[in-house]
Amino acid sequence: MKETILYLVLPCYNEEEVLYSTAEQLRKKYTELMDSGKISRDSKIMFVNDGSKDKTWSIITELFHQDSVFCGVSLSRNRGHQNAVLAGLMTAKEKADVVISIDADLQQDIDAIDLMLEKYENGCDVVYGVRNARNTDGLIKRTTALGFYKLMNLMGCEVLKNHADYRLMSKRVIESLAEYHEVNLFLRGLIPTIGYPSDIVYFDVRERQAGSSKYTMKKMLNFAVDGITSFSIKPIQLITLMGFVTMCISIVLIIQTIIEYYQGKTVPGWASSYISTWFIGSVQLISLGIVGEYIGKIYLEAKHRPRYHIESFLWKESRDEENKE
Ligand code: UDP
Ligand code: MG
Repeated sequence: MKETILYLVLPCYNEEEVLYSTAEQLRKKYTELMDSGKISRDSKIMFVNDGSKDKTWSIITELFHQDSVFCGVSLSRNRGHQNAVLAGLMTAKEKADVVISIDADLQQDIDAIDLMLEKYENGCDVVYGVRNARNTDGLIKRTTALGFYKLMNLMGCEVLKNHADYRLMSKRVIESLAEYHEVNLFLRGLIPTIGYPSDIVYFDVRERQAGSSKYTMKKMLNFAVDGITSFSIKPIQLITLMGFVTMCISIVLIIQTIIEYYQGKTVPGWASSYISTWFIGSVQLISLGIVGEYIGKIYLEAKHRPRYHIESFLWKESRDEENKE
């Protein structure tokens, strides 16, 4: 049987402090996997330099000259984690049978790679790495992460809880991914929509070995907004809902005001201005919602997402002799 060619894709942004140690741990892991015949000797460890301002790229170049198991891609400038992962996946697509993306700081346990490969051999096209606990995160990161998953699900975007971008993808999944041309990339929401058999592997997260988190609060917030707005038109639909709620309230108020008017409890001019404020407000909200629905449709059309992916196709050139009458 042909051995699996595994490419590991690691996005790197200003990671000079961790790169040597990462490379050493991965070299060891690859040697084990190659010696036990689990992966082909053509497998590679691919570093993607996401426009780093430190020595990241020169370290990658040095590693590449040291050992041919390492290879590197450098982006023209900082494009963000998701784009760096995508660049790695698309570059690896031609040569690899299977790709695993993982962070360059190796906070995610690399021993899960064995399990992921096992699941792949058993027929899975996507294997999601899901972290066991959040003990290593600070209070702020833990709370914001939890809020993020809650909000995402509320907005109708199905993301796997505690799954970041540590995942295995087969060649055909990456080829399918290549058919998505959207610029606002949110891989962890996108991959599940592609389909194919998938499974989960649990792993432990450890503290960052060196350097600091490259995900600033601003980047994290942008990421969350990107996630919601790339997948859901629910916020627009909420406007319509709000319009209808306001309309109901205004009808109740109209009835109440009319009663009070006939009871003589109102001052001249109050009833008409009070009613019209509520009524016009609700009409405006509903109109905004209707316009929004169309914008939502345009937005979904503009993404040009593929409408299907064929998983299997049964077809034969001509009928078998024995089946013919
Ligand atoms: N990263 C990147 N571009 C960026 C920000 C981050 O390629 O603009 C990479 C970074 O080098 C790391 C991964 O994304 O390999 C995750 O970042 P980090 O470990 O800093 O995030 P955290 O683990 O703190 O969420
Ligand atoms: Mg990290």
